[in-house]
Amino acid sequence: MRAQPKASHFIDGDYVEDIDGWVIEAVYPATGELVARLHGATPEIVERAIAAAKRAQTVWAATAPVERGRVLRRAADMMRKRNRELSELETLDTGKPLQETLVADATSGADALEYFGGLAGTLAGEMIDLGGDWAYTRREPLGVCVGIGAWNYPTQIACWKGAPALVCGNAMVFKPSETTPLCALKVAEILVEAGLPKGVYNVVQGYGDVGAALVTHDDVEKVSLTGSAATGAKVYAAAAAGVRHVTMELGGKSPLLIFDDADVEDAVGGAMMGNFYSAGQVCSNGTRVFVQNGIKDKFLERLVARTKAIRLGDPLDEETQMGPLVSATQRDKVLAYMKQGVTEGARLLAGGGEAKLQGFEAGCFVEPTIFADVTDDMVIAREEIFGPVMCVLDFTHEDEAVARANATDLGLSAGVFTKDITRAHRVIARLEAGSCWINNYNLAPVEVPFGGSKRSGVGRENSRAAIEHYSQLKSVYVGMGPVDSPY
Ligand code: NAD
Repeated sequence: MRAQPKASHFIDGDYVEDIDGWVIEAVYPATGELVARLHGATPEIVERAIAAAKRAQTVWAATAPVERGRVLRRAADMMRKRNRELSELETLDTGKPLQETLVADATSGADALEYFGGLAGTLAGEMIDLGGDWAYTRREPLGVCVGIGAWNYPTQIACWKGAPALVCGNAMVFKPSETTPLCALKVAEILVEAGLPKGVYNVVQGYGDVGAALVTHDDVEKVSLTGSAATGAKVYAAAAAGVRHVTMELGGKSPLLIFDDADVEDAVGGAMMGNFYSAGQVCSNGTRVFVQNGIKDKFLERLVARTKAIRLGDPLDEETQMGPLVSATQRDKVLAYMKQGVTEGARLLAGGGEAKLQGFEAGCFVEPTIFADVTDDMVIAREEIFGPVMCVLDFTHEDEAVARANATDLGLSAGVFTKDITRAHRVIARLEAGSCWINNYNLAPVEVPFGGSKRSGVGRENSRAAIEHYSQLKSVYVGMGPVDSPY
């Protein structure tokens, strides 16, 4: 098996196996080839990982923050150096084409390690003058943090959670999605090679039951999940029972508003990036594309032409622009939504079914799909599809578009294309979403907070904001004079 790791888990600085756990098969979604066979964590493995993290965290927290930062920055350099190898693994794990993984996965993981490594020396409390007496705050780690990942960005998620956790002096036990178990192991391996003390970053495999065991463990102080809104509700509730800190990065059904005055090619490009990148398996995708009536025909014409030119194919060929979906389950789910769109009366302008590619007959490919004349009540306009299915809805007035865009429980992202700068900022201010774009879509540099509002999430990843979610303040009152006690 061409991507078989040394063992399933990475605990206390080394690969660890326990074949008693549930079998996890890593399948390359382009061909159906079994590339690795792993095992989910048994309760003993979970205990071992958390005990290692707990032990290591005390030592790591006592390490000078700048030294912690150096380790992360070394790991970032190593990831960049090994970008091709890591990108190929990401492609085998997820099916995303190399054209994407070479620029969006190990590289964005490295960006996070570098960015948070660079912030290390700035972690500080403050001094508060009380007139004689004074107080100060210490920014302290939380302890053992659990990270739980989704399958669409396995390397990036492992780093987006690990980097801020580690720079603040925490230890982490990370559980990748059972669908993409391979990449996080490489992140752990590289961190240790870069000088991270053993036990500070551990990876355990498993299905939801392993995630649940981690979330409810007595020694865990924080849980950060990237996953669906349904899983988020369960994990949030379980974490709340133990009054643990949480970050929740959940699903979306985000609106993208295209006004008459927008540059057509830019708007089409943005809508395509916001629906077809990673074969549509991106949480922040702008899957409800509201197009103003005056630009609609031109927009649809260019959209259809450019969509039909998308090159589907072998993900390991750098010319390929779209790979398969991550699994047969996901493919079937997406195909069912495509059918539903037709049944509901949406106008199918491109795609709409499975893509059969020569040499990849067992792959999970679907066609990039466009539905026009979609209405707000259709299921395809309400539920997260997580595949390359774009719904185009018409609108006339700004107020109407904003109201319809906000008529969802989810609020991860939103975007607007217009040349009118006052309208751009006015509309963005009114959209109920955490991560927004003006005249672009889906770019998520590490310097910028990322996360959702409403049911799409709690807390933020990336940027300085993430530091708040992986540390806590200790307040210290310092008495400088005699104690003025009434007793
Ligand atoms: P999922 O919710 O099925 O699984 C996510 C993770 O949670 C997996 O590792 C899974 O094993 C684990 N899990 C499942 N049940 C659990 C439980 N009871 N306790 C603890 N852990 C449990 O999501 P998925 O299908 O892997 O990923 C797709 C979803 O993730 C989409 O909804 C997408 O929008 C979302 N997503 C969000 C972001 C973001 O940043 N907001 C990023 C990527 C993906």
